[in-house]
Amino acid sequence: MLPFKLIYSHDYYLPIGSHVFPAAKYRLVHEHLLATDVAEPADFLAPLPASDQDILLVHKPEYVQKLKTGTLSAREEMEMEIPYSRDLVRAFWLAAGGSILAAQQALRDRIAINIGGGFHHAFPDHGEGFCMIHDVAVAIRRMQRDDQIRTAMTVDCDVHQGNGTAAIFAGTRTPSDPLPSRSGSPLGTGKLRNAHAGDVFTISLHQHNNYPLYKPLSSIDVDLPDGIGDDAYLAWLDNALSSGLRQFEPDLLCYVAGADPYSEDQLGGLALTIEGLKRRDELVFRVARARDIPIMVTYAGGYAQRVEDTVTIHCNTVIAAKEIFGSKC
Ligand SMILES: [Zn+2]
Repeated sequence: MLPFKLIYSHDYYLPIGSHVFPAAKYRLVHEHLLATDVAEPADFLAPLPASDQDILLVHKPEYVQKLKTGTLSAREEMEMEIPYSRDLVRAFWLAAGGSILAAQQALRDRIAINIGGGFHHAFPDHGEGFCMIHDVAVAIRRMQRDDQIRTAMTVDCDVHQGNGTAAIFAGTRTPSDPLPSRSGSPLGTGKLRNAHAGDVFTISLHQHNNYPLYKPLSSIDVDLPDGIGDDAYLAWLDNALSSGLRQFEPDLLCYVAGADPYSEDQLGGLALTIEGLKRRDELVFRVARARDIPIMVTYAGGYAQRVEDTVTIHCNTVIAAKEIFGSKC
């Protein structure tokens, strides 16, 4: 049995028809983890949907009302890039409930993984980029409301910038001077932008030349050049984590473990290998464990040409957690 919980429901499935987002990936990951004996049925916890009150900790009442009554405008639905339905609303409320449960379990077991969520492009008043509700932000605000945590840090390793995360937590930010950008090997030509945060510190590592076009400032943004590989990526991640944790002491780490920095991703332009992505997960987990910071994980994007690759990358996140948190030392 795993020393931590996996949060999953069959109802995570997003009813969006034929779409570049592989809606079946959650079910495939669940099946694969069981079939390969990485996990057993008792390792999984089923979430309840977030309450409307939870969702309203982050999202504007007008937007929540539109979602619940099916009154988004055509433009708003287009911007979300997934077809609206009542079932889709239910799936997003459930994903948010899953992230709340993952955050609660992380405080108990040091780590918990939501086999879903990571909808980091959702804003308080609108959805974008396949994201309707920002489950991670909802989980953070709920944990703060319950006095379970005071501060949190998001570490977003999806290939796309966490624009919703940056916007949601920008209100508490006080700007500071940017860190000097690094040059030379192995960090290459990437750029690190830095702005200090209030109660939630946001880190995003992403491909610069990719969606979203407008990237609101995170506490730390690492704008990576096209085609960056494993070693340079890991050096940038290590650098961003060290820099963030020098400035800020989070009570909870929220890791957005996107599978789309993968070299064969259809919506990404970085060149990480499947092995490199597992090393990425291990690096984040090792840092959290060494500093004794509870960590909750969400899956976010993943659009590999072959859906099996996306499933492998997501399953490896669980294997990496098992290796790092299952060992005694
Ligand atoms: Zn993405």
